Amino acid sequence: MPKNDNINRIIDHKLFTEDDIHQMCVRLGKQLTEDYAGKKPLIVGALKGAIFFLTDLVREMDVEEEIDFMDVSSYGDGFVSSGKVDLITDLTTDVKDRDVLIVEDIVDTGLTLKYMKDMLKERGAKSVKCCVLLNKEANRATDVEIEYYGSKVGNEFVVGYGLDFMNAFRNIKYIGVLKPEVIKLADNK
Ligand code: 5GP
Repeated sequence: MPKNDNINRIIDHKLFTEDDIHQMCVRLGKQLTEDYAGKKPLIVGALKGAIFFLTDLVREMDVEEEIDFMDVSSYGDGFVSSGKVDLITDLTTDVKDRDVLIVEDIVDTGLTLKYMKDMLKERGAKSVKCCVLLNKEANRATDVEIEYYGSKVGNEFVVGYGLDFMNAFRNIKYIGVLKPEVIKLADNK
């Protein structure tokens, strides 16, 4: 089935257009350029959801950077965080004495981000901050600090621009809200 037919079946409404997302990247990139001036940050992308955001964000940053990726999972295939965080794929870069900036698609309970921040600090990073595209505060279960974010979102399941629905639909160009009936159907599978 063509991609657009499938998208119409699952998305209730658009939350952020491509232009909205671009504006967030521009604003955050400008801020990060100022804050990391004269430093060479190690940008740590959280796989897989953050790859679209990371590639757009770093191109709005005018600083010398290095990029690496880490896959840390707390959701599995479901809609509610499992509460347990697993390290699936580790970095290949030594973070000792580095200024690390974690780039994440969305923060929900905050457990994934807290796990990553604590681990990178324990490994001797000089500083560890994060830049998340979407900040979903309703289910926050830990007091992790979110230094930079694009926008707050309500307690709804969002899809597109890297954010998946059952490991697909990351390639939708905008960010939409999943239809509640689709969540119910998927939950009953
Ligand atoms: P946390 O540990 O903060 O609860 O979970 C963060 C991860 O949960 C995100 O990186 C993302 O993979 C997933 N997640 C949380 N909320 C949503 C959402 O609304 N849509 C999608 N697609 N993933 C989400």
